[in-house]
Amino acid sequence: MLNKAPLVGISQCLLGDAVRYDGQSKASQIILEQLAPVFEFVPVCPEVEAGLSIPRPPVQLTGSIETPRLTGRDDASIDVTDIMRQYCASKPAQLARLSGFIFKSRSPSCGLNSTPVFVDGLCITETGSGVFARAIQKHYPALPVIDDSQLDATSLKAFIQSVLKYPAQP
Ligand code: SF4
Repeated sequence: MLNKAPLVGISQCLLGDAVRYDGQSKASQIILEQLAPVFEFVPVCPEVEAGLSIPRPPVQLTGSIETPRLTGRDDASIDVTDIMRQYCASKPAQLARLSGFIFKSRSPSCGLNSTPVFVDGLCITETGSGVFARAIQKHYPALPVIDDSQLDATSLKAFIQSVLKYPAQP
């Protein structure tokens, strides 16, 4: 009997789906060509699943590296913090069958140690994490994770090996 491919979560825009704030996608050829044959992807767009529209006003992380708010990049009166926190409080528990997650870099929701955080209009770090990526890592501290800025051959190989060893729920 053939083994089933491991289930791996992925920021949905990386698969070429037009779910970004600007109505575009961010398809990654490396992911589509090298990882799609190995894994079964579980696409997740946290902003759309939380109820935000396509397109939507862009947001950024503000106020704090550890507990940032999500406020409008161009209109500071926009604040989607509560709707995103509510989504992030419930979604991770639904993903127990995953053996890994591939995040979209620099996103205020999905970025993995690659997202800028702003305080009073100044960028205080370029290595923050998006609120959804942070929630996944908190819920599954040992889950193999990577983002699309780390897809060199060595990192890809290490990620694949980690996913194949990860004891996901059946
Ligand atoms: S980065 Fe995350 S929240 Fe943004 S469009 Fe992609 S999947 Fe959705």
